[in-house]
Amino acid sequence: MAQADIALIGLAVMGQNLILNMNDHGFVVCAFNRTVSKVDEFLANEAKGTKVIGAHSLEEMVSKLKKPRRIILLVKAGQAVDDFIEKLVPLLDAGDIIIDGGNSEYRDTTRRCQDLKAKGILFVGSGVSGGEDGARYGPSLMPGGNKEAWPHIKTVFQGIAAKVGTGEPCCDWVGEEGAGHFVKMVHNGIEYGDMQLICEAYHLMKDILGMEHNEMAQAFEEWNKTELDSFLIEITANILKFKDSDGTPLLPKIRDSAGQKGTGKWTAISALEYGMPVTLIGEAVFARCLSSLKDERIQASKKLKGPQKFQFKGDKKSFLEDIRKALYASKIISYAQGFMLLKQAATEFGWTLNYGGIALMWRGGCIIRSVFLGKIKDAFDRNPGLQNLLLDDFFKSAVESCQDSWRRAVGAGVQAGIPMPCFTTALSFYDGYRHDMLPANLIQAQRDYFGAHTYELLTKPGTFIHTNWTGHG
Ligand code: NAP
Repeated sequence: MAQADIALIGLAVMGQNLILNMNDHGFVVCAFNRTVSKVDEFLANEAKGTKVIGAHSLEEMVSKLKKPRRIILLVKAGQAVDDFIEKLVPLLDAGDIIIDGGNSEYRDTTRRCQDLKAKGILFVGSGVSGGEDGARYGPSLMPGGNKEAWPHIKTVFQGIAAKVGTGEPCCDWVGEEGAGHFVKMVHNGIEYGDMQLICEAYHLMKDILGMEHNEMAQAFEEWNKTELDSFLIEITANILKFKDSDGTPLLPKIRDSAGQKGTGKWTAISALEYGMPVTLIGEAVFARCLSSLKDERIQASKKLKGPQKFQFKGDKKSFLEDIRKALYASKIISYAQGFMLLKQAATEFGWTLNYGGIALMWRGGCIIRSVFLGKIKDAFDRNPGLQNLLLDDFFKSAVESCQDSWRRAVGAGVQAGIPMPCFTTALSFYDGYRHDMLPANLIQAQRDYFGAHTYELLTKPGTFIHTNWTGHG
């Protein structure tokens, strides 16, 4: 008998938690997993006492679903998703819905969406963020794909998503085809950027101001009461405070070699592919790459000299505020770049993206959640056609008010020989974006010189000229 509102396939950590979340919100969920024994284990343990039901085959699962059938896949991204889709299609009717909540590549989602549309099945690729805690108590959800599915899944999705403000759900329809997974990818890239920016602030505090861990924790706690109020600043304060069993801070004992799973890299690759200067995320990915060359860096540190030992002679409190403002301004640049990439993807793929909605989706439930994202939502509410976040009055004056501090912090860091790839690239981007004239005229001349690539004159756009620069032949 059809009794379940929705099915979920994939009983690893994310799937189990999302099922329990849906159960808490009154939905009857039917659970299934490739290794079928996990269904019984889940029902007997984590899901004991809930309304969750199970199935031992896909046929049984499908037979237990109300129509249109709604099936969430939360399995390993890649082939596993295609395999399940292939097995499900013969069991489903036109108008049934398959939702992929895994970290799928957006192009795969677009392909699946198109293939399934031809078969009458509605496909949704949804970014799910917030890890296992988010899945359990309120994730950020970024669904995109076949929009006909949205009215049938909206109640479930917005019901289980994180809530902010006066109960606004961190979930809305993102856009067509792979848009949901594209937005999730950019979200992850921005997460890389936010983390690296905080690391650079920590480096400046530690090596220029010589601050102790408790002092730095206190600074981050204070910063969390400002425009920087966010999950990542909050956990950074907690990490800095954390003591090892010997009573000393744990953080300096951790190997300075950062790993990555690849979504930051995908964002940077997309930025290169679509010609958008998303420099901060790119630098954040490269910073992790450089960090992972630990052994080589140890060798290099014995040979390569930096500047003379830097002695900070200024006012400590005011330089700390400079660092805070450098972080805030750089963060604005990073999000401006992220939204530039989203806009370009929308143009490339003909998607209609809901930019304010995207900011709201990231406002809670996920790792980059912050008060700041509410300001981005406000900017797109004020002007849905906003070309660039930096051109919004709020962000324009925010960056302007940070500018002097930002330059002082970066200047001192450069003098002291401290690597700040994201602070510096953000500032270079700002300076590049605000210049009506860049030295690319020389690039054009060089290209024409060695390759006869031609150039345009400022006074004659659209007319391409070649000059014989050497006067020979
Ligand atoms: P996972 O370790 O990525 O995947 C395990 C699940 O996938 C199990 O149900 C497993 O079934 C199934 N599976 C693996 N290979 C399969 C195959 N070839 N055919 C069929 N099923 C297969 O689990 P997860 O960490 O819960 O993540 C689920 C999805 O959410 C992933 O796409 C992940 O990237 C994404 N995600 C994860 C997080 C997180 O914090 N963990 C956050 C956001 C998104 P068996 O039990 O039979 O092995």
